[in-house]
Parts: sequence; C-alpha cells; structure tokens
Amino acid sequence: MADCLFCKIAAGQIPSTKVYEDDLVYAFRDIAPQAPTHILVIPKAHIGSVAEVTPENSHLVARVFEAIAQIAQAEGLTQGYRVVSNCGADAGQSVHHLHFHILGGRQLTLEMA
Ligand code: AMP
Ligand code: ZN
Repeated sequence: MADCLFCKIAAGQIPSTKVYEDDLVYAFRDIAPQAPTHILVIPKAHIGSVAEVTPENSHLVARVFEAIAQIAQAEGLTQGYRVVSNCGADAGQSVHHLHFHILGGRQLTLEMA
C-alpha cells in the first residue's frame, strides 16, 4: 500500500532496527519501547489489522507466529513474553498494517501499557 508506514519499513524505504526478515515476514524494534524488549512483527504484505485476516491470507499470520517464536528465543526471553495486536480504534491501533508486539524483559502487568 502506497502510503502505509509499515509497508515502507518492510520495503526498506524507511529505516528501522531490523531483528528478523524472511521472504514474508519482517520484524523490527519499536521506536517507543514499552518494555526492555519491544519488537514489532509484521507480514510484508499489507493486511490492515486482525479484522482483515481471511482464509486467503491467514498463512501469513501463521508465518508471523513462527517468526515470533524464533525471535523470542533469539532475544533470550526465557522468562516469558507477551504478544499483542491492537485492532481498531477502541484498542488504540495507530498503524493500520497488521503487527504483533512482542513485549518482554520485565514482569508485565495485566495492562499492555
Ligand atoms: P499500535 O499502537 O498497536 O498500532 O502500535 C504501533 C506501534 O508502532 C507503536 O508502539 C509505535 O511506537 C510503533 N512505531 C510507530 N512508528 C514507528 C517506526 N517508524 N519505527 C518503529 N516503531 C514505530
Ligand atoms: Zn502496509
């Protein structure tokens, strides 16, 4: 999508701190970390949010989760971590390209914060 921040990050048109990349998935450090480890994992293809996951594109979500498991291990999150996806206005989704936050490295409260 032409005017999507995360499409541009996945394409290398906007700089990011890459932590993982394969043919379908890209992961990078959140610019405003909420935990010692805060990584965003995205499909390279544009999907707007969880609400736009379909039988046609759900394999991309599966690949994202395979990457999440690998990244968490590589980051040494042996004590656990949280995976969050904000969907829509009430959840405070601010970038409309499907992304999963990996949060770890500290004891997390029940709020995502
Ligand atoms: P959400 O609020 O769930 O849509 O998450 C969007 C996330 O993207 C926020 O945690 C932001 O800090 C993060 N973010 C926004 N712009 C950038 C950027 N250029 N590089 C890295 N992370 C970003
Ligand atoms: Zn996009």
